[in-house]
Amino acid sequence: MKALPETTLLVWYCGRCRKSCKVQPPDPEQVACKCDSPVPGLRPTRVTVMHAPKQRPMHALSDEEARLRALARKGTRVRVTFEGEIADAWEWSNGISRGLDFVVTSPDGRRHTVNGKQPGLRIEAITDEESAP
Ligand SMILES: [Zn+2]
Repeated sequence: MKALPETTLLVWYCGRCRKSCKVQPPDPEQVACKCDSPVPGLRPTRVTVMHAPKQRPMHALSDEEARLRALARKGTRVRVTFEGEIADAWEWSNGISRGLDFVVTSPDGRRHTVNGKQPGLRIEAITDEESAP
């Protein structure tokens, strides 16, 4: 197994308890301040965290988890899709504009309201060919 690289964090220390109260990139494990309203210092301190073997997560990241982590950055352009079944759909109009909204049931049975006017939205049929095993 490859060792995790060391990470450089930006740490803001709390003006009350002097402990770390804000970390960039966010990492709850590195936040020590328990103040109700922390007072972060104005300038962060650069801290390099070594990932010692015993601090390694219990399980190695799967390729899929690693892929998702790499995407988890503000500003990353992504396309979010999931498959589901149309449970309901309705047309609406309020005099100025009109649209078509959907309720989609995902495989876990949950219902998601989809605003048909959402910019960048694309809904397409899953063909029989695709759903064949
Ligand atoms: Zn504090």
